[in-house]
Amino acid sequence: MTASEEKFTRQTLLDVQPLTPSLFTLRATRDPGFRFRAGQFARLGVTKADGSTVWRAYSMVSAPHDEFLEFFSIVVPGGEFTSELSRLEAGDTLMVDRQAFGYLTLDRFVDGRDLWLLSTGTGIAPFLSILQDFEVWERYERIILVYSVREARELAYQALIEGLAGREYLAEYAHKLQFIATVTREHHPRALNGRITHLIENGELERAAGVELTAEHSRVMLCGNPQMIDDTRQLLKARDMQLSLSRRPGQVAVENYW
Ligand SMILES: Cc1cc2nc3c(=O)[nH]c(=O)nc-3n(C[C@H](O)[C@H](O)[C@H](O)COP(=O)(O)OP(=O)(O)OC[C@H]3O[C@@H](n4cnc5c(N)ncnc54)[C@H](O)[C@@H]3O)c2cc1C
Repeated sequence: MTASEEKFTRQTLLDVQPLTPSLFTLRATRDPGFRFRAGQFARLGVTKADGSTVWRAYSMVSAPHDEFLEFFSIVVPGGEFTSELSRLEAGDTLMVDRQAFGYLTLDRFVDGRDLWLLSTGTGIAPFLSILQDFEVWERYERIILVYSVREARELAYQALIEGLAGREYLAEYAHKLQFIATVTREHHPRALNGRITHLIENGELERAAGVELTAEHSRVMLCGNPQMIDDTRQLLKARDMQLSLSRRPGQVAVENYW
């Protein structure tokens, strides 16, 4: 099989940055033919010591217009994929499936005024891609990015989030974004304390955002921990907010990471 017939391309890692012992970011070259919509994921492949290849889904952090691909990864102790991935360094090869996948994209919603982006851990990745793309800023009046982590040191991409307002193409829209961090296992002066579900139940999240979660105005994307997603979906269902399907447009879109 020639390289052009393979289902994947071989990219080169440009940079690998540890954030904590169990979180790191990686940037790789991008094949010019690799197209994706903000919010989608790629399938990444790494070669194990025995020569076999292992593949996993990874949301793009980078925007569709960036020349590089950026990813944000957990290190699962003993994890088949992340044990290998976390050993890689700049200059090493990363395999990337030629096709991008996933439906955590803005076209899932036909209308709405406020966009809520609710994430746990590395689940913030697709939202960073969406926020670096232009469409979301035009479509919504308010964008509320919620980022839940256990410890404050796990809050990644703070400079990127703060820097969105300084980007020339977003300058006139930046006031639309509200960033709410929540830390579950310690108190932090610039974050709420508690799980997303708890903060919805006790009203704290809406108070912090200054806007209510309603079926009429809110569109909600959920990404990361499947338990958070299930529990949040139940809470939203009680407010008449349903999963958005092509045959029945709704208010909620989700991506479970495991
Ligand atoms: C659509 C999609 C997009 C994804 N995007 C990302 C991403 O951008 N960044 C990322 O780090 N992972 C992402 N994942 C998870 C990723 O595919 C792998 O599960 C992860 O790399 C661990 O692989 P592993 O082989 O080391 O462990 P696995 O055997 O795959 O997982 C072992 C266990 O680790 C836990 N786990 C897996 N992934 C995570 C995670 N991200 N955060 C916390 N606990 C986890 C779960 O309990 C899981 O059962 C995504 C998954 C899906 C389905």
